[in-house]
Amino acid sequence: MDEPSSSVQVNQLEWRERFLKEIVQNENIKSSHFNVLTKDKYSDLILQVEEAEKAQIKTPLHQRRLKRFAILNIGSVKKLVARSEDNIKYYIPAEELYDVIDAAHRAVGHGGRDRLLAETSLKYANVTKQMINLYLSMCVTCQEKKTKKKRGLVSKPILHSEMNSRCQFIKLLLNCYMFRDTPIPLSSKIVGNVR
Ligand SMILES: [Zn+2]
Repeated sequence: MDEPSSSVQVNQLEWRERFLKEIVQNENIKSSHFNVLTKDKYSDLILQVEEAEKAQIKTPLHQRRLKRFAILNIGSVKKLVARSEDNIKYYIPAEELYDVIDAAHRAVGHGGRDRLLAETSLKYANVTKQMINLYLSMCVTCQEKKTKKKRGLVSKPILHSEMNSRCQFIKLLLNCYMFRDTPIPLSSKIVGNVR
C-alpha cells in the first residue's frame, strides 16, 4: 500500500537528517580525506584553492590543494571539482549528498549498490560506497523488496515438508487397504496431521 505523500516527505526529511548526522559522526571518528565536507569546510576549501592559484610562491599546502582540487565558475557560483579527472567531477557538500544519491538512485530505478556507485562516480568526486550503503538502508522501497525476497525463500521448505507428510499419509492408507488383515493404524496423531 502506498503511504500518503505527506508522510513520505516527513520520512525523507528525517532520513536526510539522519544520513547527515551519521556521515559527519563517522568523519569525526575517522577522516575520509575530504569526502565529507560540511558547507563551511567546502567554502573554506574554495578559498584555499583560490589562494593557492594566486600565490606566486607555492607552499606545500598550496601544492597539495592544487594537486587535488580546481574551481569551476558557473555564473557567480563557485564549485569545487576534482583536478586530476578527465571529465568534471564535483565535490558535493555533506548537506547535499543525500539528495544527490537519492536522485541517482531513482534515475537507475532503485538499482543496487554497484549500479548506484557507477552512476554517481561519473559526476561526483566524493560519493563513497559507505554513503551508498547507508542511503540504501534508508530506502523503503528497497528494504521492502529485500524483505519480500527473504519471505519467499522461507516459504519453500514449509510447503515441501507439508507435501511430504501428506504423501506419507496417503502411502500409509494405501498400504493398509492392500493388506486388509493388518489393522488400519488411524492413530490420533496421523489424523491430526491431515487436518
Ligand atoms: Zn530504493
